[in-house]
Amino acid sequence: MKTLYRQFTVATLFILAISILIGFSIANIFYINVTKQETIEQNIGIAKEIVSTVQNVPYSEEGFEGYLQAVAKLGYQIALVDSDGDMKFFGETFDDTSLPPEAERVLTRNETFTGIKNFSSQIFMLGHFTNELHNTVGVPFEREGERYGLFIRPDTKLVGTDIHTVLIGFVAAIALVSIIGMIWMARQLTRPIVQLTEATKHIARENYSYPLDIRRNDEIGQLSESFNLMQTQLKHNDLARKSFISNVSHDFQSPLMNIQGYAELLKSPELSESDRLAYTSIIDQEAKRLSSLTRQLLLLTSLDQGAYPMKVKQFQLDEQLRSVVRKYRWRLEEQDIQLSYQLAPTLFRGDPELLDNVWDNLLTNAIKYNKTGGSIEIRLESDDTNAVITFKDSGVGIQEDAVPQLFDRFYRGDAARKKDGTGLGLSIVEQIVTLHHGTIEVKSKVGEGSEFILALPYPDVKQT
Ligand code: ADP
Repeated sequence: MKTLYRQFTVATLFILAISILIGFSIANIFYINVTKQETIEQNIGIAKEIVSTVQNVPYSEEGFEGYLQAVAKLGYQIALVDSDGDMKFFGETFDDTSLPPEAERVLTRNETFTGIKNFSSQIFMLGHFTNELHNTVGVPFEREGERYGLFIRPDTKLVGTDIHTVLIGFVAAIALVSIIGMIWMARQLTRPIVQLTEATKHIARENYSYPLDIRRNDEIGQLSESFNLMQTQLKHNDLARKSFISNVSHDFQSPLMNIQGYAELLKSPELSESDRLAYTSIIDQEAKRLSSLTRQLLLLTSLDQGAYPMKVKQFQLDEQLRSVVRKYRWRLEEQDIQLSYQLAPTLFRGDPELLDNVWDNLLTNAIKYNKTGGSIEIRLESDDTNAVITFKDSGVGIQEDAVPQLFDRFYRGDAARKKDGTGLGLSIVEQIVTLHHGTIEVKSKVGEGSEFILALPYPDVKQT
């Protein structure tokens, strides 16, 4: 596998190599166009200076050579060529002492030779450092009636000392520190990614407690924060899923056991008529409970998956509420509950079938958790943007700390244990209200009653 770390390091080294190449090319262009010419002129000037001294001072043969030796020590390589082609060298020896044919013109035609200019045996400016006689400048002169050619070049070994060493050290240090810095940086960048990869593997194995401790202020820090958030959410979902499955199994199991038990009892031939009726009625109740549970679960699942096909229509909301109330009149009378309502005529756009579930759940809860002789009040009001529906009862009320759990699946309050129910009603209500982009608020006091306030926004505000 191509690791990110390796790719980063290779890219860094590649960039470094390219920079060196570009830097070298620019320096080369500069050398060829500016420095080289200046060096040639400088060297010709020095050669002429030497020649003029030699011509003006009546040196003896030893004095003349001694003088050239002294100049060489100052940092030059010198070759003295006479008209016979004999050569004498001063200073550092040349690696190659051959001269090109045009160099002869120094002696034959009194011309200046600029071998440095034409020297290109090595790549570009590196030719500057080539220690060959070809790579010199030559000037003619006469001494004691004899023609000579004086060929010189700076001795790069001597000239390129202190400052060059310092510069080379400086550049090498920069390169070294940059490379180490880049490698360190690459490690810093890739380490959290390796950690994140490890964490995702744990998530894939359903371990949602992998400690990911990356504290950074950059994008990687944000990524790890989001990752931790996702991990917490997945953990929560996983727990919810497990408890959902266990609740569903339990809620199916107990009515089934009852049905099975009472069906077994019904087989007995000595059963009295009244017992037989009681048992069949229990079986009937439990079957209804199972059927309602299945219906609610199916609805909840399709709402969950976002697969529920919303059938949005325009309808009279007040009418719908009135018909739900009519449906439960017998139960209200049975429990001696007074129901009053105030329903402003409201034309609403939404899914009437889903909303019917909402009113059904809220009203059955208001009846179930009410006291005998209690009351229920239903209100439908409208403001500019919302239809506001309130279900208020004078029932048992809800403990304050239970309110946040009311809409959780399978949540059933203590008071509800003795009553019929699945604990799914309010979570269905919440899902439907959310589908209609509405909100739901609960106000309740234990022993005094509860109030469920729903605000459903008008999709395209219309009211009669
Ligand atoms: P259930 O099938 O138990 O009624 P719901 O989801 O409809 O399930 O309600 C969840 C719980 O909220 C109930 O078990 C009950 O404790 C509480 N609750 C709901 N409505 C009321 C109400 N009007 N008054 C008091 N408690 C209520």
